[in-house]
Amino acid sequence: MYCRNCGGEMNDNQAICLKCGVATGTGNSYCSNCGNPVAPNAAVCLSCGVAIQKPAAKGSVANGSVANGEYLGGKDKVTMALVCFFLGGLGIHNFMMGEKKKGIVKIVLSLCCGIGGILALIDFIKILMDKYEVDPEKAF
Ligand SMILES: [Zn+2]
Ligand SMILES: [Zn+2]
Repeated sequence: MYCRNCGGEMNDNQAICLKCGVATGTGNSYCSNCGNPVAPNAAVCLSCGVAIQKPAAKGSVANGSVANGEYLGGKDKVTMALVCFFLGGLGIHNFMMGEKKKGIVKIVLSLCCGIGGILALIDFIKILMDKYEVDPEKAF
C-alpha cells in the first residue's frame, strides 16, 4: 500500500510513513492502493478504481439515543412544559416528542392507579431544568 499523505510506498503493517512521518491512513492526497494522486474529496481512485477510505471524521457520528441534536427534539420548551403540566398524565408531551413508549406507560399507569401524573411531574421538572432527554427507546 501507499502513504495517503505523500504517495510513498509502505508495508501493510507500518504504523507510520517512513518518508513523511504521518500515521498510516492520514492524508487525502494519494490513493493507498496504487499511490497515484487523487482529489482530496474523491470517493474512488480514478487510477485504480478502488474506493478510498476517508479519515475518521470527528463529531459527525450521530448520537443514536437522541432523536436529533436539539433539546426536546426541537419542540418549544414552554409549550412542552405546559403540555406536560396539564396533559402529562396521559403522556401527550411524550407522544409529541416521538416517545411512544413513555407515553403509553403513562396512560396505563394513569388508568390503572393514577400515578402517571407523578412521572409527568418529574418530566415537567426536568424540562424546566433543561435536563430532559428525548429517548424513544426508554419507557420511563
Ligand atoms: Zn508519507
Ligand atoms: Zn488507486
